[in-house]
Amino acid sequence: SLCVKQPIGKELFQQFCWAQPDLQNYMTLLKDLVGQTGTRMQPNVTFLLKCKKFKLRKELHRFLSQEPFNKYQDSMFFDRFLQWKKLERSQINKKLFRQYRLLGKGGFGEVWACQVRATGMMYACKKLDKGHVKRRRGENLALNEKQLLEEVDSRFVVNLAYSYETKRTLCMVLTMMSGGDLKFHIYNMGQRGLDRNRVCFYAAEVCCGLTHLHEKLIAYRDLKPENILLDDKGHIRISDLGLAVKLSEGRLVRGHVGTLGYMAPEVINGHKYGLCVDWWGLGCLIYEMTAGKPPFKGRKENVMRQELELRITKEQETYDEKFDEEVKSICTALLNKNPKERLGCSGSGGRDVKSHPFFQEINFRMLEAGLIEAPFTPDPRHVYCSDVQDIDEFSTVRGVVHTDKDDQFYKQFNTGSVPLSWQNEVTSPNRKVKGQREVRPCSSCRGRLQ
Ligand code: ADP
Ligand code: MG
Ligand code: MG
Repeated sequence: SLCVKQPIGKELFQQFCWAQPDLQNYMTLLKDLVGQTGTRMQPNVTFLLKCKKFKLRKELHRFLSQEPFNKYQDSMFFDRFLQWKKLERSQINKKLFRQYRLLGKGGFGEVWACQVRATGMMYACKKLDKGHVKRRRGENLALNEKQLLEEVDSRFVVNLAYSYETKRTLCMVLTMMSGGDLKFHIYNMGQRGLDRNRVCFYAAEVCCGLTHLHEKLIAYRDLKPENILLDDKGHIRISDLGLAVKLSEGRLVRGHVGTLGYMAPEVINGHKYGLCVDWWGLGCLIYEMTAGKPPFKGRKENVMRQELELRITKEQETYDEKFDEEVKSICTALLNKNPKERLGCSGSGGRDVKSHPFFQEINFRMLEAGLIEAPFTPDPRHVYCSDVQDIDEFSTVRGVVHTDKDDQFYKQFNTGSVPLSWQNEVTSPNRKVKGQREVRPCSSCRGRLQ
């Protein structure tokens, strides 16, 4: 965590090593190894050679983690790292941000575009109204969402950068996604549905996001077009972890949770279930992106809850001419009513989904490294969501009395910066002067340090 995972820690540890004459050879070797085992692998590098390099790198890491790491802790590089950590842990309040337009509305409050004054970084701030949370007993939900978000670190899931409180609200500062949600793109951009290229690309990115969540034993449980957001480059992220749940090793959960029309049969039937429900969700998503309607309901059809649940648990979905052989095949496999037979549920952690012929054009390693361009880039002049006027005003709840117990909950929520996101923000290349390699707190930050 100190020398590899945290961006500032990594940079300073490497600077320290380069400054030691007796370590320079090791650093040169490490640099070569990292360079060559990157994602753009030369074709003539054999598997055996890859393994040797991997082993060598591990050896190097082990070596550096002993004597050099001890010496590092007595150096001024480490002092500087601690200064950064002190800054990272300082209290966060709303003065840190500039606030711009309203982006959307959720169950407990609004989401606003905001910008960190000191760095210029844009984020989306999801504000939960304390009164609403309390009246609807949403404390556990809010805390659950915040704590799960804190754990994830993936380019395919919205990340948390800060959490803080104001007098009236609890705020989660999230990756800014300015390209609108998939629901908008499926239904409000001319013809209904998306072309095959985009369906495949978005499905592949969602697949990577799900795999990341599942590695952390998080069942997402709410996959639907509304919850998949596009960024300015056209890449997507899974958002809104409000219904997600962390499974303890090997354990299943029960709970009628999700959105009507997208819930898996085992959820509707009240059975115990696990990560498999999300692969059903991916099936619904691929179906809806292709057909321009969800699998068990017409676009504008009004269906009673019971009828819809009956269709999901008993009826076979139908495929029209928009589905080619492979889309149909992956949808059928993911929408298998029996979770034991469903694609993705064999315990291979999503590898079987990724190797389905539907994804044959996708190079998942390149995709995960962020090296593939999106097939559609949102127009920066266009706003892909409702007019601000159309988003209903959020009323504040009056007459709610806060108690000590509430304060305890607010304190658990109000934990300030999330280390990885924060370090990425303050060292992000856009804000560094060209050619400047040194990592130092910016002048306004240094002021706050004293
Ligand atoms: P809730 O959990 O209450 O449903 P959401 O997290 O879904 O709240 O957020 C509500 C709305 O705010 C979304 O539908 C979307 O329009 C907008 N929104 C949420 N997160 C972001 C984000 N990271 N970037 C841009 N807009 C967002
Ligand atoms: Mg939502
Ligand atoms: Mg939610």
